[in-house]
Amino acid sequence: MFDKILIANRGEIALRVLRACKELGIATVAVHSTADADAMHVRLADESVCIGPPPSKDSYLNIPSLLAACEITGADAVHPGYGFLSENARFAEILADHNLQFIGPKAEHIRLMGDKIEAKKTAKRLGIPVVPGSDGAVGPDDDAMSIAKEIGFPVLVKAAAGGGGRGMKVAHTAEDLSMAISTAGNEAKAAFGDASVYLEKYLQKPRHIEIQILGDGRGGAIHLGERDCSLQRRHQKVWEESPSPVISAEARARIGGICAKAMQDMNYVGVGTIEFLYEDGEFYFIEMNTRIQVEHPVTEMITGIDLVLEQIRIAAGGDLPVSQDEIVLNGHAIECRINAENPVNFRPSPGKIARYHPPGGLGIRIDSAVFQGYTIPPYYDSLVGKLIVHGKTRGECLMRLRRALDEMVVDGIETTLPLFRALVREPAIIDGDYHIHWLEQYLAGGALDAR
Ligand code: ADP
Repeated sequence: MFDKILIANRGEIALRVLRACKELGIATVAVHSTADADAMHVRLADESVCIGPPPSKDSYLNIPSLLAACEITGADAVHPGYGFLSENARFAEILADHNLQFIGPKAEHIRLMGDKIEAKKTAKRLGIPVVPGSDGAVGPDDDAMSIAKEIGFPVLVKAAAGGGGRGMKVAHTAEDLSMAISTAGNEAKAAFGDASVYLEKYLQKPRHIEIQILGDGRGGAIHLGERDCSLQRRHQKVWEESPSPVISAEARARIGGICAKAMQDMNYVGVGTIEFLYEDGEFYFIEMNTRIQVEHPVTEMITGIDLVLEQIRIAAGGDLPVSQDEIVLNGHAIECRINAENPVNFRPSPGKIARYHPPGGLGIRIDSAVFQGYTIPPYYDSLVGKLIVHGKTRGECLMRLRRALDEMVVDGIETTLPLFRALVREPAIIDGDYHIHWLEQYLAGGALDAR
């Protein structure tokens, strides 16, 4: 096992990793920018190192500074959390060159899945069902039009290097196609330095269903069921739940089995998520994330498996915690991502939290790094915290969530709490009857404007 882990992240995920390290008896090193000097992850870690000024590129993304921090503190492994360097294959390689263990998958797998075109080809080869689309990148010179006609309009133009919903454009008709290809390409070039785009059938009312997997890197891999992340705004997840209200035990076993088998064939190591769109009973692979995800707690709540702790144990050469048949899904869990944003126009609202009261009681979990008097800096994501609620049934979970949301107090900044208080009372949400465009349609209808 590792002696000392450097946590190359901030906010709630840095705290989440720190907690797992403490339970395992591993010493922790926090890193922070000058803007985060009084952050909770810095206060709770055994040691801390300032790695640069506020902009992420100069601090949390600064590989030489992180290496120096490892050297100074004698850390023997690095946990990247999510975002920042968590899916940077080069970072994993550089750490290996310096005899430091990257807590995550092999660099080759990060690279493979980071290129969405290659990822899709790999998925197809491994027997995972994919969205109908072009076999590779298309350019304005290629016969994109004939491919699009074969797929059928509307088609979605997607960036090979995409992430966070950027570099995606819908072409509803043949007339829109060349414009969509050039706009998506330009956006991708600006955001990722790579203009390659590919085509996919645009699904009209799918759900976003993702499968959590865990591999030991030696041919062993299991799945931990699905998460339904269909409630999204601008392709960003807002609310996640497990199990999905629409996935049967048979469908779960089928798609989960396919994913676990694919990971066994790849010798995949660590945690990963295989993302699908799901429509009319069919699953269509869209991408794989080779890291711990923001929404991992809902899976933890219903399986009782600590994913971050297992991630660390496996990176140290440990075995899978359980076999596939030992996994029991217990009850229902929902996560709300509470952001420091105006709940109507979603403008970021950084600033000082004047009053803070997190809800408590049976089945309530808060993953957050904020506290009363803490000032949310304007430089990073706007997550205040994740409220995760567990219940024996989905109905009980919703009842408890309603109570928890009403109890929670975050004053001094604007938050998205009012959005969740409205959603948890919405008939379509109560019935589990929603798809990936539902939330935007709901917001466009002005549901929250009068509040
Ligand atoms: P990113 O890496 O940018 O997050 P994804 O491929 O994961 O991109 O897609 C993000 C979201 O975009 C999905 O959750 C879904 O809402 C939407 N999306 C992606 N592909 C399609 C598609 N073929 N049809 C309809 N919506 C899609």
